[in-house]
Amino acid sequence: MDCRSESATTGEGRFRVNANRKLLDVWLLVRCVSCDRTSKLTVHERMPVRSFDPVELEGYYANDPKLVAARLLDPLLARRNRFTLDWTGAWRLDTPSAWLDGPWPFQAQVVFEDSVPVRPDNLIAQGLGLSRNEVLRRVKCDLPLRRPTTAGFTFTVMAWDYREGSRGA
Ligand SMILES: [Zn+2]
Repeated sequence: MDCRSESATTGEGRFRVNANRKLLDVWLLVRCVSCDRTSKLTVHERMPVRSFDPVELEGYYANDPKLVAARLLDPLLARRNRFTLDWTGAWRLDTPSAWLDGPWPFQAQVVFEDSVPVRPDNLIAQGLGLSRNEVLRRVKCDLPLRRPTTAGFTFTVMAWDYREGSRGA
């Protein structure tokens, strides 16, 4: 049966380690979201046992969730296995509730608990309940707002009439 779905999930995340004499293969198992078929992403191929960091190797055997996340975010793994990750909706934003009371301009800091790539404009729009256009108009940030980032950043929200104000004077 051929399945054309291009979406797969790691589920809870499982590695498979296969030993061949002193060489190890390590795969990360992923499951097709439509037909449930399991396939393997190559993490390490025929690598001498000795060259593994023992803690890392232990993590592969134990299906360490942090190691699963780290491998998924590793651009090398993605390139080798020709996949790109879609992080849409795969993150949660915790915001303090009383931001509207602050004086303008208002500065905020974003801290990432996991380095999941998120577009700052999406994140700020969701966090502050603004439209994406409004974010682009009112938010000052050192990072390009439309390009995904995995690192924390600080941004400033200008008052509603910011554009008029800066033009007028
Ligand atoms: Zn499938």
